[in-house]
Amino acid sequence: MMGGHHAISGAAAWMALAGSASMMGHPVGLDLWELDGAQVISGAVVATGAALLPDIDHSGATISRSGGGLTKAITRTVGSVAGHRGATHTLLAVLAFTALAMLVGGLDHQARLPVLGEIPTGPVVLVGVMCALGTRALKGVDGLLLPWLVGLASALAIAVIAPEATFWLPAAVAVGTLTHLVGDLLTTDGIPFPTWPLVVKPPKRFASALWQRNGDVALPLLGDAGSAREWLLCTALTAYTAVTTVAALAGLPGMLAG
Ligand SMILES: [Zn+2]
Repeated sequence: MMGGHHAISGAAAWMALAGSASMMGHPVGLDLWELDGAQVISGAVVATGAALLPDIDHSGATISRSGGGLTKAITRTVGSVAGHRGATHTLLAVLAFTALAMLVGGLDHQARLPVLGEIPTGPVVLVGVMCALGTRALKGVDGLLLPWLVGLASALAIAVIAPEATFWLPAAVAVGTLTHLVGDLLTTDGIPFPTWPLVVKPPKRFASALWQRNGDVALPLLGDAGSAREWLLCTALTAYTAVTTVAALAGLPGMLAG
């Protein structure tokens, strides 16, 4: 799946699972975790960026082009160690990314800023990086510096509207990274066997497009990455994300005032 498509499916999956708003009397999300509107919006921003993280193993991916030489070096190194669609495309990696988010989000350090007062450093850094990645992938803004400025501004805004970076932050990273895996599973290349590093390879005569010789699994409903079907699905997901985000934003002023 392409970078922008991963990003939008991460946002859509988050809004579907965590969304608590309703439109014309109908709920637009499952509201699984009873988050308030500000946390839903904040989580959507994080899930959008987190949905790009598994491609940290690919030097041609959005994430590689996001931070100049530094991210290029990181993706090249991870790619040469793990291979593309290897270790970072596993359930174990989802757990690792989520644990890292809990660690950074839970950092006990506050920064004192003019006007804003005390802000939690860990969550602001994490949300800022995720937002910069998502913004770049969705082609909201371009260039090397601008996405990071948008990321920082959004992270500071989120620190004000959702100051408690609790459950929603690691949950959004988990949803985003897991959605990436599902997205790649739906293409012909597939992803590593679910219990990686314990890989079960099929006996030769059972090897197929669904369970490949090397143990990779796929459910290639979308065909090759970047196919017309992928574009169609992601157009629908974009519309869904737009509607649910508008519904969530509409509920914000009342919530923040109350
Ligand atoms: Zn991928």
